[in-house]
Parts: sequence; C-alpha cells; structure tokens
Amino acid sequence: MLSYNITYNTLDINNKKIEYRAWNTKDEKNYLIAIEDTKEEDITDDLIYDILIKPCLKNPDIVLTPDEQKYLMIEIRKKSLGSTFPMRYNCNKCGTLNDIEIRLDDVISFKEQSFKEIIIQDQDNDITLKVLFNEPKTNNLIKKIQEAKTNTEKNYIDFLIHIQEININNETHKDFSFEELDNFISTLPTYVFDELLNSFLNSKSKLSINNYESKCLICNEENIIKIEEIPNFLWV
Ligand SMILES: [Zn+2]
Repeated sequence: MLSYNITYNTLDINNKKIEYRAWNTKDEKNYLIAIEDTKEEDITDDLIYDILIKPCLKNPDIVLTPDEQKYLMIEIRKKSLGSTFPMRYNCNKCGTLNDIEIRLDDVISFKEQSFKEIIIQDQDNDITLKVLFNEPKTNNLIKKIQEAKTNTEKNYIDFLIHIQEININNETHKDFSFEELDNFISTLPTYVFDELLNSFLNSKSKLSINNYESKCLICNEENIIKIEEIPNFLWV
C-alpha cells in the first residue's frame, strides 16, 4: 500500500503536551478554497483553527486558548514553510531598499501563564475575597470569546472563563454557571474588579510580536522595524 508516514512534533506549552504535524497539500488546498469562498470579515480565528490547526493535531479535542492556538500555528508554520519570513524596508537614513529575511523566533515571544490565587482585602465591606484563576475547562467556554462582538467584551469573557474558584470570607464556591459568575462579578465594587482583572492579565499567557532591529546593508544605519503582521506567513 502506498503510504507516507508522517512524524509528529511535540510542543510543551502551559503544561500541555501538544503533538502536531506539518501542513500537507490537502491542508493547503482547503485553506486556499476557504479564503476564495469566504468574505474577508468571515475568516475568523475559529475558521482558521478548523482548517489549519485541528487537522494537524494528534488529539484534536485538546483545549487551547486563543494565544496558545496562535503560538501553535507559528510552530506548525515553521515546520511547514520554514522559520523565516521576507521583509523589505527603506532605510530611514539613506533611503536604500533593503530586502531581508527575519527569523520568526527573533520577533515572536510567548510568555507562559503563571496563575495563582489572588487575595483581596476589601476593608470597606469587610470582605476577604480569594479568587483562583486557571485554564478554562472546555472548548465551549473558549468559544464564548469568539462569539463576543467587541474587544472589550472578548477580554471580559476571557477573564470570566478563567475564574475557577471563588472564596468569600472563607466560603468556597466552584460550581457556578457562566451566568451566575457574570452576575456576581457585576456586583463587585470597581476597585475590587480592577485589582482582579489586572492580576489576571499579568498572569495569563501572552503572545507578542516585537520590533526588529536591522542594519542597513549600504550605510549601516540601525533601523527599527515595527511588524504589525507577519508577511508571507501562509501560501498567499
Ligand atoms: Zn541606509
């Protein structure tokens, strides 16, 4: 029988072991068909996940946060289309057009999550609030982020679905529904909420694209290149 045996690679992020393969020609075809048939505003992260990430996973049901998905997508891209991307810029001193290749690893950084219990003493209301953040337990919870219309709402839902346990004056709660939690959070004084939100934002994992420094080939001037989006990340 004709068969092409594919090797799976392993990525360890946030205590998850992800086994993935590189893209094959079928993945490429599915992607090209999807972007041809889909209006640009309908190409969501969810759609990209279904076409370009899920088929590459040994365990397609693994729960991944949006940042983990993006990081994994970059790792799959490195194995499939190479670990660099082309960039052109005009030197800001001599104006020469420079054509360079940048390594993805030189501009992309991923900070792993570091969740812990947050304790807030609200003296005005005589309440000690302890909140334990952790990974959302299901993909359905993560999908709620996708359904949100605005970025503010997305961030708020991201915060909610990471709350695993709440302790109010030594009474622990963990079997609350999403709606109950939403209602509870809306009753918090803003100073308590802000403290919680900040502590969550500082401990969640974060993917960022950093600036790149490049010396002009002609005049040696150090140019700072701001990368909004990776050019030629996929096939088109
Ligand atoms: Zn120059």
